[in-house]
Amino acid sequence: MSRVYNFSAGPAVLPEEVLKEAQEEMMDYRGCGMSVMEMSHRSKMFQTIIDEAEADLRELMNIPDNYKVLFLQGGAALQFAGVPMNLMKNGVADYIVTGQWAKKAYVEAQKYGKVNKVASSEDETFSYIPDCSDLPIDEDADYVYICMNNTIYGTVFHELPNTKGKTLVADISSCFLSEPLDVTKFGLVYGGVQKNVGPSGVQIVIIREDLIREDLPQWVPTMMSYKVQADNGSMYNTPPCYGIYICGKVFKWIKGLGGLEAMKKRNEEKAAVLYDFLDSSKMFKGTVRKEDRSLMNVPFVTGDKDLDAKFVAEAKEAGFENLKGHRTVGGMRASIYNAMPKEGVEKLVEFMKKFEAENA
Ligand code: PMP
Repeated sequence: MSRVYNFSAGPAVLPEEVLKEAQEEMMDYRGCGMSVMEMSHRSKMFQTIIDEAEADLRELMNIPDNYKVLFLQGGAALQFAGVPMNLMKNGVADYIVTGQWAKKAYVEAQKYGKVNKVASSEDETFSYIPDCSDLPIDEDADYVYICMNNTIYGTVFHELPNTKGKTLVADISSCFLSEPLDVTKFGLVYGGVQKNVGPSGVQIVIIREDLIREDLPQWVPTMMSYKVQADNGSMYNTPPCYGIYICGKVFKWIKGLGGLEAMKKRNEEKAAVLYDFLDSSKMFKGTVRKEDRSLMNVPFVTGDKDLDAKFVAEAKEAGFENLKGHRTVGGMRASIYNAMPKEGVEKLVEFMKKFEAENA
């Protein structure tokens, strides 16, 4: 077996311990004679899996009792519609557009009401987080929306926007469980799990109970109603059982490492290895304003497209996969999620140093 260092933005690297455990349990999950893939979602065995996953997530994120945790499907992108469908009571929302995913959410929401773009960093290819201390928040806004960590551009909100009392909603797909998050500052957070938490196909919505509406317009599909999903324990229909099972294992893996404070420390140390090198290199350069840098996604360029391509190709040969940057930024991007070991980043930096020396 030979595993590469996988810097994919998602689906992404998962902890080897989790993969091995799943492998061991594949044919016969804990003596029941079948895999979790083959199990009825109505079985006691699966109910225990989903209940434990929820309990562990609640413990890790310190989620208060007045928040519901929903395990849903449809990718994070389905919540670009789910959020406005469920939360637009006045039919108004304010969006802060800091990247492609925030922009897609902003465009999707326009199908359901009046949507204001109250801040954007598109003028500089989303390479920074705009000042959100005094935004023109709409008096009627049902919520203010952010994408917390911008996967493509490698920026993160280190400080939350001043919503002037309005409910804050965040897409946390690419920073899920990477560090502690004060859930009480948000009405709703959600994310696809295929970066830090598990395999694609599961998304998690964490919503304050008072935002779960009974009086949704009748055109809202049943599956999209947070009320229906909450009332049915995320099992109105067949949930993504296997994915939830893997998420549960990742939650236990993080708990075993000491929880989110420990994860943060690990991630800070790991990211510093790469950022410190980028700041000292004559060839490679980070593309993001320093104070807005993400711990999870690190885009960088050489400034020469051919050299970028050469780097990506040679890195692949050397066992560093998925380093090609998004087409709108160019260059490279190293996604260094929770499960990427520090050693992977150290080896990458060693390789970058060698490449720099050889191509100077
Ligand atoms: N939000 C963010 C921040 C993302 O990075 C992505 C996917 N990379 C999405 C939303 C869309 O997720 P999905 O493909 O699960 O719909």
